Amino acid sequence: MNETSDPTPVAGPGNPDLSREAVPGQKVALAPGQLQLRPTRRGKPPAHLADLTLAERIAAVEEMGLPGFRAKQLSVHYFEHFTTDPDDLTDIPKDRRQELVDRFFPPLLSVVSRQSADHGATQKFLWKLFDGPMVESVLMRYSDRVTLCISSEAGCGMNCPFCATGQMGLTRNLSTAEILEQVRIANRMLSRGELPGGPGRVSNIVFMGMGEPLANYRPVATTCKRLNAPAPEGFGMGARHITVSTVGLAPAVRKLTAERIPVTLAVSLHAPDDALRNELVPINTRFDVDEILDAAWEYFETTGRRVSIEYALIRDINDQAHRAQLLADRLIAKGGAHWIHVNPIPLNPVKGSKWTASDPMVEKRFVEILRENGISATIRDTRGSDIDGACGQLAAEVIESDAHREDREARVARVEAVAATAAD
Ligand code: SAH
Repeated sequence: MNETSDPTPVAGPGNPDLSREAVPGQKVALAPGQLQLRPTRRGKPPAHLADLTLAERIAAVEEMGLPGFRAKQLSVHYFEHFTTDPDDLTDIPKDRRQELVDRFFPPLLSVVSRQSADHGATQKFLWKLFDGPMVESVLMRYSDRVTLCISSEAGCGMNCPFCATGQMGLTRNLSTAEILEQVRIANRMLSRGELPGGPGRVSNIVFMGMGEPLANYRPVATTCKRLNAPAPEGFGMGARHITVSTVGLAPAVRKLTAERIPVTLAVSLHAPDDALRNELVPINTRFDVDEILDAAWEYFETTGRRVSIEYALIRDINDQAHRAQLLADRLIAKGGAHWIHVNPIPLNPVKGSKWTASDPMVEKRFVEILRENGISATIRDTRGSDIDGACGQLAAEVIESDAHREDREARVARVEAVAATAAD
């Protein structure tokens, strides 16, 4: 396993793992198994109201020679009315509005496109960040909730071979305000009835868009606090309605636990045995199944919140009955059957990959085995797959080099060999 250690890598012979471009729209994929723990870019977006706590906003407003209560008014506009438009700030003196907007609401995201699927119930947004990189969010309307799947990084350095985002490498981390803007703008459109299905409001957030949220720990933790904080400090969403999904960065999970960040934790396990998980989720070579399950169990024990275990069912790779049984055994060994909920999801095929979803009968058997062991399990839906908007299909910009394609094909052969061996 290799990793880039230079934040601005240069392509060169003998150093294929660094053959990536930092130019937007010209990315090439990571080499198989390569983890990229540092972004290629350091671009820092302008400071924004949503980066600050209410107390910090008051101090910043007072620094401009304005009374502190203006901070609260601005916060109401942002977190309750979802607006940053100077014309909407009618309770603020007209001659100060533009100055306040320039200081607190610099434009961070612009909508490049919006695609619709599932008869309008699913919408995929492509956003451009102020310095060029693109990220995506997916809005899913259900009868009882509106879920927004958000991105925490432009690209991702975790390189899981079945995930499109995993192939693009990490361009840069998003700031708190860049993550929250995805929520604010979706809410703005929903509240104005601009999306199919009529007026509404985002009720659930999942960090299942682009990026590994816990590799961007501080901004993501602050985002969660802000999503949860009552208006007008934040959006006032319940912790149960905010899900952080991770490849399993165990130390960061422990930090979440210690800081009591108000979220539901989801762990992308995808294999119960280290031999296969090392291939499917390369960070497993740093934090193995045992270690991530330990950290997840501590999270449950401390917060009382059940942990979700994500498991993409890949045909003939990780979907065998013996792996379902091993998964049940390992989860139960940590603390019984009550502390987790397993979410198998049929693999959303990624362009250019030969891997596909498990046979429905195999999927059914997998779930049955978990249930026979007393574990609750429900198949997750695959909304938006026809617009490449489903889990693992988000790749705003990626170009794969021929060399990397060959490497990737070699890796696929290796994973298949590992998959065929009995799990220990
Ligand atoms: N980095 C985080 C969040 C990213 S994606 C994580 O790994 O958890 C959210 C979920 O989609 C993860 O469980 C991820 O493993 C899963 N996923 C990725 N590619 C997928 C695909 N092609 N089909 C189905 N699920 C996929």
